[in-house]
Amino acid sequence: MKRKRVVVLGATGSIGDSALKVARDIPDRMEIVGLAAHSNAPKLAAQANETRAPAVCLVDDTKIDELHRALEYSPQVFSGEAGLREIATLPDSEMVLIAVVGTGGLRPALAAIKSGKDLAVASKEILVMAGEVVMHAARAQGVRVLPVDSEHNAIFQCLDGRASEVRRLILTASGGPFRATPAADFASITVEQALKHPTWTMGRKITVDSATLFNKGLEMIEAHWLFGVEMERVEVVIHPQSIVHSMVEFMDGSVLAQLSHSDMCFPIQYAVTWPERVPNSLTPLDFGKLRQLEFETPRYDDFPALHLARRAGNAGGTLPAVFNAANEVAVEAFLGERIRFPAIWETVETVMDRHRAIAPADLDAILGADQWARREAAAVIGSDSSS
Ligand code: NDP
Ligand code: MG
Repeated sequence: MKRKRVVVLGATGSIGDSALKVARDIPDRMEIVGLAAHSNAPKLAAQANETRAPAVCLVDDTKIDELHRALEYSPQVFSGEAGLREIATLPDSEMVLIAVVGTGGLRPALAAIKSGKDLAVASKEILVMAGEVVMHAARAQGVRVLPVDSEHNAIFQCLDGRASEVRRLILTASGGPFRATPAADFASITVEQALKHPTWTMGRKITVDSATLFNKGLEMIEAHWLFGVEMERVEVVIHPQSIVHSMVEFMDGSVLAQLSHSDMCFPIQYAVTWPERVPNSLTPLDFGKLRQLEFETPRYDDFPALHLARRAGNAGGTLPAVFNAANEVAVEAFLGERIRFPAIWETVETVMDRHRAIAPADLDAILGADQWARREAAAVIGSDSSS
């Protein structure tokens, strides 16, 4: 039995909180050796004081003094984007959990792979943007990319290495807060309504993504890269209870599913202890109380994110990066009450239509397309909101 030494990037977020919970729950198996955040110095300091992680990193260097004042011991302190790459390559760590919202975790993830660390990936955006680059680098270096996203962790558990015998990957989606809302009412959806997820408590960006179904669209492309399965064989089914976290249909027609309560501690623990399973204090399912598990077909035409994702994933190259970046900008604009809810889809579609995709694409082309799409999305939003 061995303790895994883990660095957590995005420690102060929702996934970061769950990772610390897992470390508290299975201390014999998981040790936090590094913690990184963007600008929340008080929370990062509190987490560091609790875990006594030997290294911490705050990207926003204007908050470094605040961090130092709040620390009750003397860890190694990094800052800036460069600091994030340094903490991702700490000599003493074995695994880096990427839980930075958006694409800020891409460079540190590639640095971690290069220095031989296994990755546990929550940040689906980096796999959508640069899945081929990340998976190729990991294979070349002989390191693992373990999925933390609950659907992909479920698929990983069901697959058990038998990817060549798969017929379909079936991603479950809760459907979000507007699963049954008539499309005619979408334009009046408020930020507050979009931030009320029926089954999961998560950060703001992914909560909005769950409401638009962009989250599931991103996850389709994420699954394609993680498991090397063509986009045509990645499907989505709505499952409002969020108990079945995803399924794999094998070529003989048998379907395997993974079930648990909707708590990210389950997938985080499995990524850390894989290939072993160890006991914990998480609440098991009580089938007597579950009563029913429902499944239904997504409303593809009312929630265009799934069609857009399929288009981006099929085209490959730079288009998934454009799809992802335009969505990030549009979600920010929606949260800032600068655009209405349906304009998130419209913005992404317009930016995708305007993009001249390069395929296959190397990292430079992908980063260039990401920047282009952010500018283009901002321009689309600017011209719409001034009209
Ligand atoms: P949160 O918004 O709760 O947390 C984001 C974290 O990222 C914070 O620690 C934040 O630091 C940090 N951060 C933001 N920008 C940067 C940056 N440029 N460099 C370094 N750190 C940064 O997000 P979640 O925890 O909900 O989500 C994190 C990722 O995990 C997302 O990619 C999401 O899609 C994915 N995911 C989340 C799930 C969930 O249940 N929450 C489920 C499946 C996937 P600070 O606090 O200082 O701003
Ligand atoms: Mg998910």
